[in-house]
Amino acid sequence: MILEIQPNIHCENCSKCGRRPHVEQQKKFWIVTCPNKDCKNFVKGELVNIEGWNKINKPNTSLNQKQDFKKTA
Ligand SMILES: [Zn+2]
Repeated sequence: MILEIQPNIHCENCSKCGRRPHVEQQKKFWIVTCPNKDCKNFVKGELVNIEGWNKINKPNTSLNQKQDFKKTA
């Protein structure tokens, strides 16, 4: 079963192809995933984890910023 994510829910586009993810139900798991299977970009959990998806698909370079922060600290 595939569900569209409501337009009013903040969710980042796929960091690889820029498409909006959707939600798939697989038995007891919920998967926030890019509709493009080739991206292999998804977050799986017992709850819909859009926050987790947003963390790994941030459009800005927050990971690099963290590394810079460590260096200067
Ligand atoms: Zn994608």
